[in-house]
Amino acid sequence: MAFVDLHLHSRFSDGTYGPEELVAQARRHELAAIALTDHDSVEGCPGTARACAAAEIEFVTGTELTAEQDGNELHILGYCIDTQNARLLTQIARFQAVRQNRIREMVARLNQLKVPLSAEAVFALANCRAPGRPHVARALVEAGLCASLDEAFERFLKKNRPAWVPKFKMSGEEALELVHQAGGVAVLAHPGLNRMDEVIPRLVEAGLDGIECFHTKHSTATTEHYLQMADRFHLLVTGGSDCHGLSKGKPLIGTVKVPYQHLEKLKARAAEIKQLIVTRVDS
Ligand code: AMP
Ligand code: FE
Ligand code: FE
Ligand code: ZN
Repeated sequence: MAFVDLHLHSRFSDGTYGPEELVAQARRHELAAIALTDHDSVEGCPGTARACAAAEIEFVTGTELTAEQDGNELHILGYCIDTQNARLLTQIARFQAVRQNRIREMVARLNQLKVPLSAEAVFALANCRAPGRPHVARALVEAGLCASLDEAFERFLKKNRPAWVPKFKMSGEEALELVHQAGGVAVLAHPGLNRMDEVIPRLVEAGLDGIECFHTKHSTATTEHYLQMADRFHLLVTGGSDCHGLSKGKPLIGTVKVPYQHLEKLKARAAEIKQLIVTRVDS
């Protein structure tokens, strides 16, 4: 039986692995295919595709877009996207600029709290275009200003804590449309973490293709709940470990193994979406 992991982060967002390390881990766990789903980024896709080709592992392009519905954050995974798509790249660049400005604001708040961290230190550590709170947390630990990442989040960075800054986000519908026009399949990430089942019918109406049923933080009961929901709304089923490398302790890759058949269906849907785009351009 072949297994895949469709939710992985790299150093191009808040993961720690570079493409080669990530693919070496995928190989160690005998995965047949992987998708890279960095937050608001596709920067790591070309390098990961090359490393996968060398290791004879199938590569699926991806990203994890940050969106918002009724004031709640939700993550939309885009799979089989064209990573050269102009509008996708323009929008991603916009969200990356938002992230960079937000780092500066968070650092300014920390400085007001007499925590002497510099934005440059965070950017140097992040070394990517999509920096986020985990990079601020790591910088705080490295500078000896916090004892652990948990402490950094608990004291400063969690929602409504003193250095937390809200982030401008697109709507769920906008995220779905952005993925689709780039030829991709749009999937709601880890619904069990956000616990907002009431948005699912609305997203389905707006063209949602699938839900991530298998996830590290989903219990067996939660997975079962979303498998039933996928069935009810005729949605694709996906899953992955949401591995961030070594940034959250033990690497999670290999802990969630999704049967290859789900990727087969996802690819079929991607082919349909791409066909629709071609038909629209032709007519
Ligand atoms: P951001 O996109 O900058 O708001 O950062 C969100 C990321 O921070 C998530 O993807 C997680 O990887 C991480 N994160 C959120 N909350 C915590 C927490 N309490 N402890 C550790 N990491 C967290
Ligand atoms: Fe993350
Ligand atoms: Fe997520
Ligand atoms: Zn993720």
